[in-house]
Amino acid sequence: MFDRPLKILVVSSEVVPFAKTGGLADVAGSLPKALAVVGNDNMGNDVRVAMPRYQQIESGTYRMDFPVPFKNRNETAIIRESSIESQYQGVHKTIPVYLVDNHHYFYRDRMYMYDDEAERFTFFCRAVLEMLPKLDWQPDVIHCNDWQSGPIPLFLKTHYRQDPFYNRIATVFTVHNLQYQGNYPKEVLQVLGLGDEFYHPERLEFYGSVSFMKAGIVYADVINTVSRTYAAEIQRPELGERMDGLLRKRSKDLYGIVNGINYHEFNPKTDNRIHRNYDSANVTHKKENKFALQKELGLPVRDIPLIGLISRLVDQKGLDLIAEIVDQLMSEDIQFAVLGSGDKYYEDMFERIRSRFPEKMGLYLGFNAILAQRIYAGSDMFLMPSRFEPCGLGQLISLRYGTIPIVRFTGGLADTVNEYNPETSSGNGFGFSDYSGRELFNAIKRALRLYREQPGQWETLVRNAMELDFSWARSGVEYLQLYQQAMSAHLSLQKIA
Ligand code: ADP
Repeated sequence: MFDRPLKILVVSSEVVPFAKTGGLADVAGSLPKALAVVGNDNMGNDVRVAMPRYQQIESGTYRMDFPVPFKNRNETAIIRESSIESQYQGVHKTIPVYLVDNHHYFYRDRMYMYDDEAERFTFFCRAVLEMLPKLDWQPDVIHCNDWQSGPIPLFLKTHYRQDPFYNRIATVFTVHNLQYQGNYPKEVLQVLGLGDEFYHPERLEFYGSVSFMKAGIVYADVINTVSRTYAAEIQRPELGERMDGLLRKRSKDLYGIVNGINYHEFNPKTDNRIHRNYDSANVTHKKENKFALQKELGLPVRDIPLIGLISRLVDQKGLDLIAEIVDQLMSEDIQFAVLGSGDKYYEDMFERIRSRFPEKMGLYLGFNAILAQRIYAGSDMFLMPSRFEPCGLGQLISLRYGTIPIVRFTGGLADTVNEYNPETSSGNGFGFSDYSGRELFNAIKRALRLYREQPGQWETLVRNAMELDFSWARSGVEYLQLYQQAMSAHLSLQKIA
């Protein structure tokens, strides 16, 4: 497919296992593992990762430090090196991870949500670029993710444009969630080291702000998002978050590649976080996980349908639909296990539901990766009624654990979940399109009916779900093609220039 291995730098503000607040970290931690081995007769590629070194990250050995030109002064970046081990399709690779360290910017309690966010991530982006010649490593492609790395394509086409070390590097910008845009007042141009001429609708100006997300979208050689449906949806006003016009303008360079999950990490056969291991040949063991989960959550131990939900508690996730149907839902003989953290509004909402239905609802507010696995393994059904969903990982993990997703057909949920058809036994879950509590409840009812009335068919559905392949192998190859695309786009742009 490719005549030589590629040199790829993946840049992300969060990467599993170092730091995670959402799906971006899972992608940034697992895509490189696949890229390290796929393509080119499985010779793999030279993949490296760069991220900030937050306070909580302990690993990493000192590699170098250097001054970064920044805001008319120099700010020191320290680079520590750690690694991700990739055990993929029988091949072992070590992927270097460069941790960009600066005491002032990154030694803080949280990862995000500070007043000087623009400064922190501008510094990060410049430090990543300054590091490359010092490593004596010139990537073919820099793969940037979300607004925090949006300035990298911008800098390559401005500050570093004339420098022969940099001007051959192509860029890919992936939108994981268009809602988080990194928009700041005009004065941020000084932080970026750019003049007022960049405060222009064709460049960085965005409804009276300077937008880091827009920087990525305008200046990257190609853009993609994490499912085909979301790539189409964000070109329309409803989900375009005011970037739809810009995205339509770049639509020929805009691709959709659905995320995968790491099938070694998420494997019910070997997962040591769950009570009893199982695979598609012995799905009945799943029940023991259900009983253990009920015990852990203080619910009565009974063989009734258990519905799981693991989510950031934010408007995006469609949680108001659950509030809408809670009385109907709780009048069913079911249990509901919820794990999440986020907006106080939703935390309170779930607390209230739990206090009304303590026998039916198990609730853990907070981030808990172990409990998450136990819910994926122990539930029968998994709820994702999202208002919008760029890709969604929850439904992919739940399928892998034989837990049947009930989703709203939007974004990546529409690309990965199909309605089960009892006549033909096709499909892997249940879903609805209109954003309404009634539709959600109908979808849950269809799932409950099959579970209760056709246990044989339910078991087949569970087995089929577990045998689907949403691993990174396929999407990894698609990313390699995207990198190639970015390289040719970059080359033709250089020829024009
Ligand atoms: P998003 O990136 O919008 O948060 P995704 O479905 O793409 O949504 O990814 C969410 C990931 O985070 C999944 O792996 C999910 O299991 C995990 N997750 C979400 N909330 C929690 C939590 N409170 N505790 C543990 N894991 C969580």
